[in-house]
Amino acid sequence: LVAFVMFLFFLVLPLGQAVHAYTQLQTGLGALQRIEEILDVPVEGAADRIPPGPAARTRPDPPMIEFDRVGFGYPDGPPVLHEVSFAVPAGTRTALVGPSGAGKSTLLALVERFYEVTAGALRVDGVDVRDVPRDVLRARLGYVEQEAPVLAGTLRGNLLIGAPTATDAQLRAVLDEVNLGHLAERTADGLDVQVGEGGVLLSGGERQRLAIARALLAGPPVLLLDEPTSNLDARNEAALRRAIDAVAVRRTLLIVAHRLSTVVDADQIVVLDGGRVVATGTHDQLTTTSPLYRELATHQLLVT
Ligand code: ADP
Ligand code: MG
Repeated sequence: LVAFVMFLFFLVLPLGQAVHAYTQLQTGLGALQRIEEILDVPVEGAADRIPPGPAARTRPDPPMIEFDRVGFGYPDGPPVLHEVSFAVPAGTRTALVGPSGAGKSTLLALVERFYEVTAGALRVDGVDVRDVPRDVLRARLGYVEQEAPVLAGTLRGNLLIGAPTATDAQLRAVLDEVNLGHLAERTADGLDVQVGEGGVLLSGGERQRLAIARALLAGPPVLLLDEPTSNLDARNEAALRRAIDAVAVRRTLLIVAHRLSTVVDADQIVVLDGGRVVATGTHDQLTTTSPLYRELATHQLLVT
């Protein structure tokens, strides 16, 4: 009998473990599938699966980012955004321009879900951001803030925050992409050169490009970029512009822009004033339709 019980025990134990593992796998796969359902952009060939008919033709891909009559005010503060509506189609570049305090940075903060909209809806890939866990949402969005922080430590350390397992070759490739390859050549330390406090001093443009490199390493399909307002010299401005162009390849960009050179190539420019969208269009269109845009453009959009 003991032998039989022992036999049963050894038979059942691994089976139980297998069942447990299988259940976990199922749960995991289910969750993954749900995340994919929520987030996946319609892939090539998706049209093949949509049954033919009017319904298929009237359901285009959702925009990557969509503001739908968004209203917002900071906690205990007055409203700062009113009925903001615009959409950023996947794979395109949208520039946000407007005077200081218009609400440009706030719009990016809402996409990142640092705050929740107080009216209307904000959708990413057609899904209301309130229905997407923050970490899942942020994995899709590379966010580079206006005053990009450079942490004390090494160049390598600053980059690996975005992708802890990146190889040296990947780090050097992304540094080249944002025109910062020289940083790793400045001293014999290479990628281990000290940057930030107490290290190699970086200009405002270099700091921003380092932050862009950090965001790119994580491979997000969307980049939210708050352009620095500090005056960049011509060389730094050209380098930042090239970095943005490199980033734009196969990605969706929403950029708070302060420089004419950043906005002229945008697929769409959204002009904000006092928390409202006052005009939308291309550079050529807005130059004739929007007095505010014309004024900003005349001053090279350097309005802080
Ligand atoms: P922009 O980036 O266009 O200069 P912001 O989005 O930074 O404008 O600011 C829009 C409005 O929200 C301003 O009136 C600003 O004072 C206010 N604001 C910005 N950040 C905060 C905050 N963290 N708390 C309270 N009010 C804020
Ligand atoms: Mg701002």
